[in-house]
Amino acid sequence: MKTVQVNVVTPDGPVYDAEVEMVSVKAQSGELGILPGHVPMVAPLKIGAVRLKKGSSTELVAVSGGFIEVRPDNVTILAQAAEAAENIDLDRAQASKERAERRLNQKTADMDSHRAQLALSRAINRIDIKNNRI
Ligand code: ATP
Repeated sequence: MKTVQVNVVTPDGPVYDAEVEMVSVKAQSGELGILPGHVPMVAPLKIGAVRLKKGSSTELVAVSGGFIEVRPDNVTILAQAAEAAENIDLDRAQASKERAERRLNQKTADMDSHRAQLALSRAINRIDIKNNRI
């Protein structure tokens, strides 16, 4: 079975490094499925899940946007924050979700709704990945 090397990297360091058979990401332009030998490309990502297919199992990594760089034999994902599913703290994500929802409901003049919306999306993404609802 052909494989492609995948690295997920953040400013805090590497988060994921493995050979996989397929990697799927949520690009700004839509879902992208990358197989070994893919033509080179770079694409911006949405907040979402990276799915990494290895044999019969699929691993999930939460990413908070960033970029994917594809080469025929390796894929690099650069994100401001990323967590493998097993490292997601569900309580923290729930608390973050509630905080963002409270902010969005306040609707005060100084509330940065775009920032709160992004925080909410990150929290929901982490919760969905942790609960395997992706
Ligand atoms: P919070 O409000 O909980 O800080 P956030 O979405 O604002 O959430 P980020 O700024 O995206 O957090 O991430 C800051 C750092 O904390 C990153 O290193 C990220 O991987 C980590 N992190 C954030 N939320 C979680 C979580 N629920 N579980 C594990 N790590 C997390």
